[in-house]
Amino acid sequence: MRRGRGAVPARGKGPRTLGRPEAGAPRAQGGLVFFFDLDDTLHDASHSIFRQIDTRMTDYVERHLSVDREEANRLRTLYWRRYGATLLGLVRHHAVDAAHFLDQTHDFDVASLVRSERGLTRLFARLPGRKVLLTNAPMVYANAVLRALAVHRHFGARYTIETMRVHGCFRPKPSRLMLRAMLARERVPACRAVLVEDSTVNLKAARSLGFRTVLMTGHGARPGVFPDLGPRRMRRAGLVIRSLHELTHGLRRLRR
Ligand SMILES: [Mg+2]
Repeated sequence: MRRGRGAVPARGKGPRTLGRPEAGAPRAQGGLVFFFDLDDTLHDASHSIFRQIDTRMTDYVERHLSVDREEANRLRTLYWRRYGATLLGLVRHHAVDAAHFLDQTHDFDVASLVRSERGLTRLFARLPGRKVLLTNAPMVYANAVLRALAVHRHFGARYTIETMRVHGCFRPKPSRLMLRAMLARERVPACRAVLVEDSTVNLKAARSLGFRTVLMTGHGARPGVFPDLGPRRMRRAGLVIRSLHELTHGLRRLRR
């Protein structure tokens, strides 16, 4: 699922929502705090996982909206393009239950499909600073990927689409409102926050708030293929990397 913008009233109860700082969250003490995207950043979701999710989403739309395959594909793509996430269109226009949709479309053996760079466990142990997960994917799926990558113990706070609610509405990336609320909750000033992402749209929003930005291009669409990764926008990122291993050496070059 490619995830993104739009505000849709949330339905049902989620694990937590954004709105006030977490009581126990430590204040950032001068070091950098890394906010990592998940898909096509920590692992290569484009290799096969996105295909699995897209197929399940089309199945779900076909079944629950009682439309044929062609129409289901059209709606899935339309809502993804319009709102940045199929989920948001389904909730807004068809009163689909978000939790049920996320459960059904991510119900597969994630571990067997995860493809990633080698040495991530060592890399995350070496990388200084707090690490936070920031993904428009659902929590169960995100946790499964982190476990498969063997980096789950390095991530304390995990912001997934269920938690990205501000004033009762889903506000996934690249919502500036959500990003501000998340920084407040984590007690991190934007100048110490680093967003590592494959989406320049999300990086642009974070950068406008004062985040330092790292564009990860090693997975998924290559520069020039996906319009999101145009050369002009790539230059705006503080650091452009093709491998997460470049992070440790590139930190000094990070600029806002
Ligand atoms: Mg991504």
